[in-house]
Amino acid sequence: MAVPGACRSPLRRAYDVVIVGAGVQGLALAYELAKLGVRDVAVLDRSYPGGGGSGRNGEMIRSAFGSREWTGLFDESLRRWRTLSAELDFNVLFSGSGYLVLASTPEQVERCRADAVRQAALGVRSQFVTAEEARRIVPEVNPDLALGGVYQEHAGFAHHDAVVWGYARAAARLGVEIHTGVTVTGVEVAGGAVRGVRTDRGDVAAPVVVNAAGGGARTIAEMAGVRLPTRTCRLEMIVTESVAPFLRPALASLELLGYCHQTARGEFVGGTELPYSDVSDSLNGTYTLLADMAAKFVRLLPRLAGVRLLRHWAGLVDQADDLSPVIGPVPEVSGFHLTCGWVYGFMGAPATGALLARGIHEGVMPELIRPFSVTRLHEGRLIQEGALVVAAEEGSAA
Ligand SMILES: Cc1cc2nc3c(=O)[nH]c(=O)nc-3n(C[C@H](O)[C@H](O)[C@H](O)COP(=O)(O)OP(=O)(O)OC[C@H]3O[C@@H](n4cnc5c(N)ncnc54)[C@H](O)[C@@H]3O)c2cc1C
Repeated sequence: MAVPGACRSPLRRAYDVVIVGAGVQGLALAYELAKLGVRDVAVLDRSYPGGGGSGRNGEMIRSAFGSREWTGLFDESLRRWRTLSAELDFNVLFSGSGYLVLASTPEQVERCRADAVRQAALGVRSQFVTAEEARRIVPEVNPDLALGGVYQEHAGFAHHDAVVWGYARAAARLGVEIHTGVTVTGVEVAGGAVRGVRTDRGDVAAPVVVNAAGGGARTIAEMAGVRLPTRTCRLEMIVTESVAPFLRPALASLELLGYCHQTARGEFVGGTELPYSDVSDSLNGTYTLLADMAAKFVRLLPRLAGVRLLRHWAGLVDQADDLSPVIGPVPEVSGFHLTCGWVYGFMGAPATGALLARGIHEGVMPELIRPFSVTRLHEGRLIQEGALVVAAEEGSAA
């Protein structure tokens, strides 16, 4: 099968910009750079576009977070999601059918109430919902687990493969070369500036190199002599056979550390996490998580009992200590940029691609991405984002 947007010509020996990683971050950035008129952009991937976390994620999209940094960036992204299909001339199957973060204990209810107040103060459209309202939004939810929540009516989900293909094709139309099956094995640095990359298909010179390598980002940074304080973690998902529509919005549960939605074809798609981050670079799914997902989702949505699983897979994400992305230039290596540390990198891609492209093109990072610089991690200025549904401690599932 032809890989959407993939380049058939040989890899050239020099480009203006080389992006390592053809995930949604690398491809969105390439597309936006080309739109700004930057010529000779190459995206290199050892696998295929979307072969990393971008083709393995839960597809959930929202901007109702708790910090100024996150709400600013993700609200801009959500705005872009609404018109992304038209922008890319490719249907990314964005569904703005709502996103409910569900509270199941009095403490979680209070947390959601406070989040909604903070979100309103930050200009994000969301609402605190009572138990009754939560059950009205998701009538099939187990009432014991629905004591309230935060609802963002215009958030939702999109199809991850369609998003990757849409960006890849749109970027290729603008002249971006996407080279698959090319492994970056080194990053050339001389005189404090990046000079290009080494690959298993030869050296490639470039004055700008962007590390968008997802779970491989730390290794790429090390190749440039840069310490990236992140860790690689494994997440897992399941998809069931099609069932009649019963779940309209995207749904995340604070109690179960789970998130899910139902596709237009009727498949239920969901993932859960254990109370700790599964620090691993393995792409093998585990029985531990499979059992956890099955049990938790049947508890959350009892009508799933007896529904058959179609698929189960694992994917990797790169995580910083504050679980916030790492975006922008690396001060000690001129021309070397990062877009990594992404826990919610699917939903964040449309805004980040556009803003980072502008920053690289104009030499000044736009305000919305400036707080996510790598410097904050080295200086211990962590971003305080409390409205994530992810495990925070370290551990291992298997
Ligand atoms: C199970 C799961 C559920 C998730 N759910 C959500 C969700 O609901 N919403 C959300 O917003 N986010 C979610 N995420 C996170 C999201 O998928 C990632 O944050 C996002 O895909 C990161 O995109 P990326 O382009 O930075 O990295 P990736 O998509 O991982 O792409 C990195 C690419 O770099 C390539 N690469 C790595 N090393 C090299 C090398 N040496 N040479 C060449 N190429 C290399 C890889 O092959 C890969 O294709 C989830 C992730 C997983 C795994």
